[in-house]
Amino acid sequence: MPALDDYAPIVGTAVLDDLRLLADRLRGRVVQFVNSTAVGGGVAEILNRMVPLLRDLGVDARWDVIKGGDRFFNVTKKIHNALHGKVEEFGEEDVEAFMETSRRNIAELETYGDVVFIHDPQPIALVEKKAHDRWIWRCHVDVSAPDRRVWEFLEGFITRYDAAVFSAPSFSQRLPIRQFLVAPSIDPLSDKNRDLPQETVDAILARLGVPTDKPLITQISRFDRLKDPVGVIEAYRRVKKYIDCRLLLAGGTAADDPEGIEVFAEVKARAAEDPDIIILLMPHDDLAVNAIQRASTIILQKSLKEGFGLTVSEALWKGKPVVASHVGGIPLQIKHKYSGLLCHSVDGAAFLIKQLLNSPSYAKRLGENGREQVRNNFLLTRHLKDYLLLFLSLFHRGDMVYL
Ligand code: UDP
Repeated sequence: MPALDDYAPIVGTAVLDDLRLLADRLRGRVVQFVNSTAVGGGVAEILNRMVPLLRDLGVDARWDVIKGGDRFFNVTKKIHNALHGKVEEFGEEDVEAFMETSRRNIAELETYGDVVFIHDPQPIALVEKKAHDRWIWRCHVDVSAPDRRVWEFLEGFITRYDAAVFSAPSFSQRLPIRQFLVAPSIDPLSDKNRDLPQETVDAILARLGVPTDKPLITQISRFDRLKDPVGVIEAYRRVKKYIDCRLLLAGGTAADDPEGIEVFAEVKARAAEDPDIIILLMPHDDLAVNAIQRASTIILQKSLKEGFGLTVSEALWKGKPVVASHVGGIPLQIKHKYSGLLCHSVDGAAFLIKQLLNSPSYAKRLGENGREQVRNNFLLTRHLKDYLLLFLSLFHRGDMVYL
């Protein structure tokens, strides 16, 4: 696993020096992260890197995971969907199922941290155990338009925390506690993002059966209607009339998600007999995602709704020109015509793809700017710095923090 010093060639030693300076002020303090799963999902992915790096910096970071059964996780899935604005039945039974497991976790999980950092709604009720004023709730979901009943239920817990953290200003809600805005990040040294030799990229593309003899336009996403895979095919068709190219839609397997399979079938049907549309249902494979992104000429993220949209940072980090919708966290990552291109429709996406295919030097410049945009804003080291500053601010409330 990479150590902190391994990031020096990417972000420079000054960034690492800042981290060390901040971490020194937290030496001996215990920072306890709590979430609901050790594997799978973006939160676990980030914590898996964040916790060892904090330890590398001398902060005593630890990570605990709450326990829960199917009934509990069915309710928390409903809560998740409702926070995204989906109308969900959320009745007394759901509240009871949520509270029953929460009570068990309250009884069994020890909260020993000098900072207790709770992630997402699943463990939120642990705040019952709050014994000091350095409890933080981290929300990874866009809660700009939540189902009010579910939000009000959670608000009863959130307002007892000392601070709340959201990914972007537009994702948050008005609250009577301090709020911090911390964007997510990608790890430039993970298998998904680290540099790959061209031979490895070629070998992976050959294994996946993706030829690279034509410009390759790619979208990597779960097969989800909100990622608009059908819109991607429509945009490609409009481009293909004028410029020969190939479209790759690649996404994870979703055996436990009936809708995913349905959308996959729909997309397959839309692609019909066009041999230049490749649709890949992939198992979880970070190196494959990395290689596909590196082999692509243009990367799309034509979502209709989006959280932060990590795939955009991943693509930009590889220096790729990206055409993506102006939704969710995407405009934070792409400054239009500088670090990528933002679209609002199928026609807009097609127009921008043609423009990029016709001017490789413009495409290259956008990709280079995109990579710098990610280097400066969306790498794990920036995320670490934000968290260290957040922890320090809880110890020095109202004072100046001298570094
Ligand atoms: N991803 C992956 N394999 C796939 C599809 C997606 O590993 O087949 C990854 C992708 O690289 C990114 C994450 O899943 O890291 C998706 O995060 P994002 O924020 O873009 O969208 P979400 O799926 O959370 O809505």
